[in-house]
Amino acid sequence: MNSSKIFHSQTQNNPNDPENWQKELACGISDIATLYQMLGLSLPDDVHTPKKFPLKVPTAFVAKMQYGNENDPLLRQILPSSQEQQLIDGYTTDPLAENHHNPIKGLLHKYKNRVLLTVTGACAVHCRYCFRQHFDYSANIPTKTVWDEIINYITNHQELTEVLLSGGDPLSVSNRKLTDWFGTLSNIAHINTIRLHTRLPAVLPNRIDDALLDLLAHTNKSVVMVLHINHPNEIDDVLKEKCRLLRQAGVTLLNQTVLLKGINDDVQTLCKLSHTLFEVGILPYYLHILDKVQGAAHFDISIEQAVDLYWQLLENLSGYLVPKLVQELPNRPYKTPVNIHQSRLT
Ligand SMILES: *Cc1c(COP(=O)(O)O)cnc(C)c1O
Ligand code: SF4
Repeated sequence: MNSSKIFHSQTQNNPNDPENWQKELACGISDIATLYQMLGLSLPDDVHTPKKFPLKVPTAFVAKMQYGNENDPLLRQILPSSQEQQLIDGYTTDPLAENHHNPIKGLLHKYKNRVLLTVTGACAVHCRYCFRQHFDYSANIPTKTVWDEIINYITNHQELTEVLLSGGDPLSVSNRKLTDWFGTLSNIAHINTIRLHTRLPAVLPNRIDDALLDLLAHTNKSVVMVLHINHPNEIDDVLKEKCRLLRQAGVTLLNQTVLLKGINDDVQTLCKLSHTLFEVGILPYYLHILDKVQGAAHFDISIEQAVDLYWQLLENLSGYLVPKLVQELPNRPYKTPVNIHQSRLT
């Protein structure tokens, strides 16, 4: 261990002090006028300011948006739009019927060998297409007693090999809490892998700090991090360096993308995304059809369009750069591959 690390751990010992990234998180943008001003845009007449699921975005993500471009693909992912208020048939508040697979609050056991824990409701960013935007987190965040039940459940289900930490965003909790969770999970012998599903590296890269890297490097389980990056502009040199450190800590980096109308629903953008991910050491994993959540219909594209795009990806990318095109259907024990042949023939 080098001396700077020792110095670091001696000076960061007050558990009540916010970690540096937490200070940055607290300074996130929640005011639409401020956001427009930062981007050099004039405020339109019809701004939408929802009280539930309001604007929330870290400054580091705003910095990756193009100044003066009101159609910026990063801006569109986080800017509330009045279209969200439209009620459209087929778009519901619980599109995945997740409420039925909740044996314990905070634990989803839908797929045979893996469980998903909603460890927090907090996110650093509010993505307007989010399928959990109506999820009742207050009823699903594990308290200490519930956490013990969850651990018992995992311990008693020998068929489980992997635990997914999700939310919300699991990296929006403190290193101290993550260390507790990793510690507990590392004692369960039949669990091989801990997986984190997170958008924080893309929206607040400073979250990948020394303490987190140290934790990930020293656990006895395999660690997989699935980043949620939708557009190549989200990847810059800062993220590249964080990915290098994560890989050095032994973390496998994958990415999942949601197909979003007007943001990444064209072959150039998706090809560039795959190439840029690869350059920074992340492999494309899933390309998701949007979950039919109320308020996000304006981001949806048809299955036919998605399939058409997918054939173009197959034509233009090396096999390992083509993510799997999937759809999450209620009550299926896996993400369902979209049938690209059938849709093309009919
Ligand atoms: C997506 C998901 C998983 C993980 O699925 P993989 O195909 O392994 O990525 C596990 N549990 C739930 C409830 C999920 O939604
Ligand atoms: S980070 Fe994930 S869970 Fe949080 S708002 Fe965005 S899509 Fe939803």
